[in-house]
Amino acid sequence: MFENIALIRQLFFQSKTYASILIIVSFISIFLEGISYAAILPLLENYLSSEKGSNLSRIIASIFTYIGFSINTLSISIVFIILIIFKNFFRIFREYLTANYKYYLREIWLEKIYNSLDKSEYEKITLVNRGKLYNNVYHETNNSTQGMENLIEIFTSLISLIFFIFILILTSIQFTLIIAAIAIFIFLLNRLLLYNYSKKVGNKEVELNQLVSSVINDSLVSIKNIKAFRVMPEFSKYINNHVKYLRRIMVQWRVYTFSTMPVIETFLVLTLIVFILYWNSLNDNLITLIPLLAVIVVVGQRLMQQLSRFLIAINSFNRMKKSFYVINELMNFDKKNKNYKTINKENNLRLDELKKDIEINNVSFNYEKSNANNKLLNNLKFNIRKGKITILKGKSGSGKSTFLDLLSGLLIPDTGSIYINNNELYKYKNINEKIVTVSQKNILITDTIKENILFFKQFNDEEYFKKITSKLNVDDFVNSFENNYDTIIENSGENLSGGQMQRICIARALIRKPEILILDEITSSLDEKNEKEIFSSILQLMKGKTVIISIHKSIIDEFADDIYNIENGKFVK
Ligand code: ADP
Ligand code: MG
Repeated sequence: MFENIALIRQLFFQSKTYASILIIVSFISIFLEGISYAAILPLLENYLSSEKGSNLSRIIASIFTYIGFSINTLSISIVFIILIIFKNFFRIFREYLTANYKYYLREIWLEKIYNSLDKSEYEKITLVNRGKLYNNVYHETNNSTQGMENLIEIFTSLISLIFFIFILILTSIQFTLIIAAIAIFIFLLNRLLLYNYSKKVGNKEVELNQLVSSVINDSLVSIKNIKAFRVMPEFSKYINNHVKYLRRIMVQWRVYTFSTMPVIETFLVLTLIVFILYWNSLNDNLITLIPLLAVIVVVGQRLMQQLSRFLIAINSFNRMKKSFYVINELMNFDKKNKNYKTINKENNLRLDELKKDIEINNVSFNYEKSNANNKLLNNLKFNIRKGKITILKGKSGSGKSTFLDLLSGLLIPDTGSIYINNNELYKYKNINEKIVTVSQKNILITDTIKENILFFKQFNDEEYFKKITSKLNVDDFVNSFENNYDTIIENSGENLSGGQMQRICIARALIRKPEILILDEITSSLDEKNEKEIFSSILQLMKGKTVIISIHKSIIDEFADDIYNIENGKFVK
């Protein structure tokens, strides 16, 4: 319960100033609303020139006398109109602030989530289902903004309720007591029937949405295969099975939580009838009752409406709790990093230049941590020579890519370490700027070819850009496009050939002027002639730098200074 509150507070108070302003404006808006309802009574009593004023009328009358207003229908009407105008102004202002804040919260959360993904170990991210992750980042942050709006509604409703009850007390204590009893009864009923139910619905909803997102994600990413195998109807049915289930529980939830409203209204009408009958039995003059009844009906109706909004907000909020947990977990994803090495980046160690050979010191790695006997990479110990070209060979699945991911700092060894200039690789802050990898499979982003090459790097050296793109023959095909480098790449580059995509990604790497360049089977989508040509271009551009290449074929062996073969987790020279 208490850690719940801490979590919600943490999610809500992303900007203390803004949240405070929102709370104050809400308070003023509710206050003005209450007052404007309260003003109905003296207005009516004055109009009907009732002799017996209620407490509320007397209080308002003394306030009027205090500011020097005479009490007549006109003055009360003017005050009433002014109040209504102010009330509505603040109501709109409150709406504006609420909407603004809730979307602002989402921006902050997303920023924190991406910051956390940035800091967390890559291996951990690969363990999370991508569709599920997409759902959590996109959908659950959205749900959580809804939850935060519910939270604001709970807060404002609660204050409204207190305020209306206060006005009712001043109007008629008997009636207030009856209303309060009913309100408490309905609140407890809600607590009993819908509180935990809503939470359960929320859990199920998140779970199903994750499933649906991940299946839809699969269907869209592999649409080519699905069409080629003619299994679209089956896939659609598969998706709809989950969506159907989701519909069932959501409809049920809507009906259950909505039913608080009619229940409350029925109670209110019953109470009013009982109250009128009771009053009638005491007094025979119903005229005196009219102003009072007006306030009771208006305020009572408003109060009950508020109560039902309050309860609906509580139930919705409970439904969103799971979303809060999910996004909070994401925001703290990096906190559960297992490896001490990734945390060591606090020191400001920077790599400028590789000064000596890269030392691979007793490095072991397995994806399956429990399987200690059969290690993918087993106690590797050797040096990668500085400024030289090293080629790695080995069967598919022998661990070449895994080794290269260790070398780029993406993965962390289970035991042992990799040393660069006598420091552990993971301690450098800028390691990703200096060790750059081009891999076999690349995904381009929906942006221009130029942006895909720059890839968020601030870069003004046009000449160097031209040098690289012409040497890598990127120019050849890009210039055949109407918009040249401003051509937008769609669908992760599906409409480019494998070779074209690869050239863009090689340019992306070289433009960063890496100290160490890692090429992981980059030419599998090229023919032999192109393959050799592209390696020769890259190596010319990287002259004097350290290059590590994993490749099946032997066609570039002549360029190599060292060649290693991976066999059963060991490197053989
Ligand atoms: P190579 O590049 O030599 O073809 P990899 O290093 O890609 O080999 O893969 C080596 C082994 O590790 C394979 O058996 C593969 O199934 C497994 N593997 C690769 N990536 C992962 C991962 N993220 N999680 C679990 N196992 C993986
Ligand atoms: Mg590989």
